[in-house]
Amino acid sequence: MPNQSIGAEKSRVIVIGAGIGGLTTGALLARRGYDVLMLDAAIVPGGCASTFKRRGFTFDVGATQVAGLEKGGIHHRIFTELDIDLPPATPCDPACAVYLPGESAPINVWRDPQKWRQERQKQFPGSEPFWKLLANLFQASWEFQGRDPVLPPRSMWDLLQLAKAVRPSTFITIPYTLFTVGDALRLCGLGGDRRLRTFLDLQLKLYSQVNAEETALLYAATALGVSQEPQGLYHLQGSMQVLSDRLAATLERDGGKLLMRHTVESIGVDGGKATGVVIRNQKTGEVWTETADHIVANVTAQDLVRLLGDKAPVGYKKRVSNLPTASGAFVVYLGVDASAIPSDCPPHLQFMYDADGPIGENNSLFVSVSHPGDGRAPEGKATIIASSFVDTEPWWQMNDYEGMKRRYTEDGISRLAQFFHLTPETIIHQEAATPLTFARFTARNRGIVGGIGQRLSTFGPFGFANRTPINGLWLVGDSTHPGEGTAGVSYSALTVVRQIDNS
Ligand SMILES: Cc1cc2nc3c(=O)[nH]c(=O)nc-3n(C[C@H](O)[C@H](O)[C@H](O)COP(=O)(O)OP(=O)(O)OC[C@H]3O[C@@H](n4cnc5c(N)ncnc54)[C@H](O)[C@@H]3O)c2cc1C
Repeated sequence: MPNQSIGAEKSRVIVIGAGIGGLTTGALLARRGYDVLMLDAAIVPGGCASTFKRRGFTFDVGATQVAGLEKGGIHHRIFTELDIDLPPATPCDPACAVYLPGESAPINVWRDPQKWRQERQKQFPGSEPFWKLLANLFQASWEFQGRDPVLPPRSMWDLLQLAKAVRPSTFITIPYTLFTVGDALRLCGLGGDRRLRTFLDLQLKLYSQVNAEETALLYAATALGVSQEPQGLYHLQGSMQVLSDRLAATLERDGGKLLMRHTVESIGVDGGKATGVVIRNQKTGEVWTETADHIVANVTAQDLVRLLGDKAPVGYKKRVSNLPTASGAFVVYLGVDASAIPSDCPPHLQFMYDADGPIGENNSLFVSVSHPGDGRAPEGKATIIASSFVDTEPWWQMNDYEGMKRRYTEDGISRLAQFFHLTPETIIHQEAATPLTFARFTARNRGIVGGIGQRLSTFGPFGFANRTPINGLWLVGDSTHPGEGTAGVSYSALTVVRQIDNS
């Protein structure tokens, strides 16, 4: 039950950032009776899950597929509490078609569990013990996460929530807490199966930022398990923006205020307690301070330290600066004639290439393709969005930034042309985003995207907590448990809301 009793003065909460994490936090708090002020530096809300329009096309900036829309899924739960409808969506089936180097037929990650079992038995003979282990761990982890544990715990209340989420079935996960996917492959006698390893490296990098050797097994079990029924990955009708727009409208319906093009420049701290924020209105240049009972930062852990300046606790600052280097993204956005798209093209594809080239350190592309009538392209046209992981630093050090961007774009398009019919006649619009673009439009430190990675050292009990060492200051978003993605950051938001409600 909310702590805001009728007649009592509402606690004031400032939310820095209107990404899915911030919007979900703000909308839930406003619904529960808090006085919410949300500030975002960008022009439209949604952060990495927002969109932009060009020549009749609507492009999803980053996120293109959503988990957690099914009954009981995290977006479903949150939209139910907010008493609003979920945006219409279609399940992705296959969730992804994965093309390994030199192969012309894909590995289809089907939504139907039976069909996916048959596919993987055909593709990776002898690997069933590994998949069975994953399925068992997924079942237990999914049920555990559904009981809203607080991870990592930082107070007695957090610890109690964690204890309450544990059931006898949870214990089967405990021996695997310190296992990586690489360890599990070796345990199942599959350490030398290079094809399976390549497939897992590709898929896991999308969710965990790191390859199979480094990804925490319990995280992988969930990330790989959500593609199948009764869960699933979904393609939103309209665009990704509908998710943010509905949350923003709900925030305002319930009395919250969202100010776009307002940047938070610093967070004030006094006596170990967060007191307020310094805000700059980008249009007028006006700078002022707002105070609040709670401040929720929907930013990266690195940006939180920057906003705290010399008020950042030494240990926290050190922990953040010791984090392994995070990835950036290079993304090519194409508006094309529908004739560029092969018939029966799945909504999501992943390609890995043999030859070396500039398109990202693991030489792969994750591709999302619009459907006729899904709101992203005019009739007879389509969008293709292809992203790859990149090291951010060369982009900041580069003298010839435009030249590097052009080379990456050309290389990306020439690789996509091995599958799509891409010619000067079929490409109507093209543009690209680099780490500098993400830094500028999503205000993320150095343009890093996708959170802090799900290695053993940064996963679950060892990850970044929503509760910071500063009283009344909360971190929400993909730097915190349970990691990246719109579903992950929504869990993170729900946790912060429950913590504030019980503080
Ligand atoms: C290329 C790419 C593809 C992806 N694909 C998928 C996918 O298919 N499915 C999926 O679920 N996830 C995907 N993701 C990940 C997903 O988009 C993110 O994990 C998630 O959207 C992050 O949400 P967030 O709320 O944590 O932060 P963000 O989206 O980064 O939002 C933070 C917001 O805070 C604002 N802000 C930051 N600092 C300040 C400040 N000082 N003052 C004011 N405002 C500030 C920013 O402008 C931004 O709007 C993808 C990401 C990328 C980059």
